[in-house]
Amino acid sequence: MQNTPLPWFKLRGLILGLAVCSVLITLGNSFYATYEAQRSLLINNTLEANRVYAAKLAEVTTVFLDMAQDRLAYSANLLGEQMNDATRLGEEVLRLQQSTEIFNSVAVVDANARVLATSPEALGIRGLKLMSVQAQLAISTKIPMITDPFTSEAGNYLISVSRPIFAKDGNYLGYVMGTIYLQKKNILNDFLGKHYYQDGSYLYVVDRHKTLIYHPDNARIGEQVEQNPAIDAVVSGQEGAYAVTNSKGIEMLAGFAPIANTGWGVVAQRPRDITLAGLDGHIIKVFIRSLPMVLLTLFGIWLSAVLISRPLWLLARDTRLIEDKTAQDNISHIHSWYFEAAQLKRAIVKSMGQLNDKISQLHNDSHTDAMTGLLNRRGMASVLDSYQEKRTVFSVITLDIDFFKRVNDTYGHDVGDEVIKKLAQLMRTQARKEDQLCRSGGEEFMIFLPNILPETAFTVAERLRELIAGTEIPLVGYITVSFGVAYWAALDSPRSINDTLKLADQALYKAKQQGRNRTVCL
Ligand code: GH3
Ligand code: MG
Ligand code: MG
Repeated sequence: MQNTPLPWFKLRGLILGLAVCSVLITLGNSFYATYEAQRSLLINNTLEANRVYAAKLAEVTTVFLDMAQDRLAYSANLLGEQMNDATRLGEEVLRLQQSTEIFNSVAVVDANARVLATSPEALGIRGLKLMSVQAQLAISTKIPMITDPFTSEAGNYLISVSRPIFAKDGNYLGYVMGTIYLQKKNILNDFLGKHYYQDGSYLYVVDRHKTLIYHPDNARIGEQVEQNPAIDAVVSGQEGAYAVTNSKGIEMLAGFAPIANTGWGVVAQRPRDITLAGLDGHIIKVFIRSLPMVLLTLFGIWLSAVLISRPLWLLARDTRLIEDKTAQDNISHIHSWYFEAAQLKRAIVKSMGQLNDKISQLHNDSHTDAMTGLLNRRGMASVLDSYQEKRTVFSVITLDIDFFKRVNDTYGHDVGDEVIKKLAQLMRTQARKEDQLCRSGGEEFMIFLPNILPETAFTVAERLRELIAGTEIPLVGYITVSFGVAYWAALDSPRSINDTLKLADQALYKAKQQGRNRTVCL
């Protein structure tokens, strides 16, 4: 039979591979899901925190602007009766600027836009007529105003908060204004800059034209910012939060809220990368913490794979050596702890048993003489091989029925056969367990006596001869047999086993010649 090559996959490897793959895929998937969930949680939390923070600061700024206007309203009220008193005006602007610390400068302007008093005096614009659009607007509208940022006559980039001054009779006299210098230290950047954390977060304020009024980077104040969705939304009055890319191309998580009554907006933001910076470390920590359990699971899988595959592996290994005498015994000792393996084992053991019985039966048949049940020549050869191999000394007795032709001639062949069978029976009664009886030809036999000296063999032969000679056989009566004896002394023997058998034949021949019914030992 041609041997087809065996596949190299083994059950244990397959189970192990399958289980480890599924564990790793599940694990990877759950880490990815955790990572994604944590990431969006962090982003959403930061967006919401920034929105709330922007709203809070927008509220505080509104309160501050209201307060600033209240202060100006108080002064405007006082100044309604003192517009012509230059000293009083001077005192009042000084008080307003220095005591409140809200404004960088304070000025009183008359209905012709001429500056009547300033604090600080050093501004040097007293007596000047203000030409700015903002000044003209304050006079023409005669209402409280908060201007857009502009550069003043004194050269400061500022916003101004103003309040009209009316005389008792309702005549418009001009206005009192306070300014906040956007690019210098002022009360706005004082409180906007103070609050924030050291985590990359910052905030800025834009006016309704998207111009930066406040920014931690002073140089950017006055810059107009376009294409920023957070700024677009806040100047249109919305509150909310977006992930945006800032003017430097950095992704930001921005919360924003409008400042009431001004058209301004506050934007609080934090770089997305900084927000997520801790996440990788966090996931690695989770991974390390789950590592013992993962290793334990993998160990469990390995152990299961070994336990499941072991019975089948052993069955496969031992059936490969099926000719080995110990294979059946080995297989019957395999611990087959689950149904399929147990069933397979049972079937293999059963068929091996049947096979072995068949083989030994065939072996016996081929080594046995059918008529007498004694060994035939093949059986004899195998006994002699074994003696040769194990160097077993033995005596051999050859025997031949005397004048057997006459028995056949007188009583027929069948009766002759019966005589042969009877002789075999008599031989059996005299044999020891280890003696080997053999029908070497028609009515000729051999008896092998292992570890028996020729003298003893001679005695055995004589005893058998006498037994036969004294046994009456039905129909035939009495027969006699002649014996030849020889001895093989293994390594000490001068002869081969074959020559020893020939010697025994010669002894038998001699016995015939000397008159039959006797034993000759050579
Ligand atoms: P002796 O041995 O005393 O010299 O004389 P013999 O008449 O026995 O001569 P031999 O041994 O040569 O004869 C063997 C005879 O045995 C020949 C054959 O007819 C007979 N024979 C051989 N095998 C069988 C057998 O299986 N059955 C029967 N019935 N006869 C057999
Ligand atoms: Mg003969
Ligand atoms: Mg004979």
